[in-house]
Amino acid sequence: MHDKDDGTRAVQWVELVWSFLAAAKGEWPTTNASGMLVAGSRVGLLAGGFFLIVWGCKGDTEFHCNHFRIPSHWSSNFPCADCPADTSTSPMRWSNFKADAPWKVLGFAGNTERWLRHVAARGKNAHIIFKAVADGGPGLGTEHLFRDTLHICCLGILPHLLGNTLWELCFTTIISSVRTPAGRMNEVWERITDKYKQRQTGSQFNWIDLSTFADETRPNAEYPTLSGKGAEMRHLLPVLLTLAFRFYQFCYAKLKRKQNKTQATTITQPQPKPRQQNNKHENKLNARVACSKI
Ligand SMILES: [Zn+2]
Repeated sequence: MHDKDDGTRAVQWVELVWSFLAAAKGEWPTTNASGMLVAGSRVGLLAGGFFLIVWGCKGDTEFHCNHFRIPSHWSSNFPCADCPADTSTSPMRWSNFKADAPWKVLGFAGNTERWLRHVAARGKNAHIIFKAVADGGPGLGTEHLFRDTLHICCLGILPHLLGNTLWELCFTTIISSVRTPAGRMNEVWERITDKYKQRQTGSQFNWIDLSTFADETRPNAEYPTLSGKGAEMRHLLPVLLTLAFRFYQFCYAKLKRKQNKTQATTITQPQPKPRQQNNKHENKLNARVACSKI
């Protein structure tokens, strides 16, 4: 099978959609998928008055991209199937998470027309499952494509979340007892392995160093992203969450102690006496004001 519109897969989908529509109507179809009358076909209710609506399509992101040819491949300029966020440097960039980011209000869910315009603008033909019932399709939208946890969470969000947390712990002074990023990384890794043992974690990272999530020589050059397998990411999340929380708590408590100490010093510090010259100047002014009143 291949991905062309006029290929075997497209013919199969015409047959599938024909059966979906008959099931949604709840009646035996009297025509075949090409619209031709079928002699001697059964008539009447298909399931005693029950009907079936297709409301979801399960598959991983790769399948949805390749099979339905939707313009949302992660390596394309429009990597999202739910909105027109892109990879440009404009406010439409996918990484613009400001409150007024324009892609936030241009989602495709519940707006199939917008989705179809987006597909056409990318030079693609919409798959038959996205066509309205009136146009011979089952009328599905992007919101009916189920998202898979592996690609969206474990290999999608977690590499950024975990990479950013590790970056914060290693390239800032949250862990102030160690001077260098590499030293902080060793500290964090030791604690991760301890937690792995305590929790008897099944899928563990064999090793994490700075190069696993950042460029050690240019740590601000790219977004921190942790490399690893989905299961490793999933099992690292609770471990790193606990560690990061403790480090932040410790850092916050230290900052608070420092602030309290500074305030105490400010309160007990003797106030400087006004300089004599100022007093003289003030006396002169007061004398002038007094004179003018008189
Ligand atoms: Zn999106």
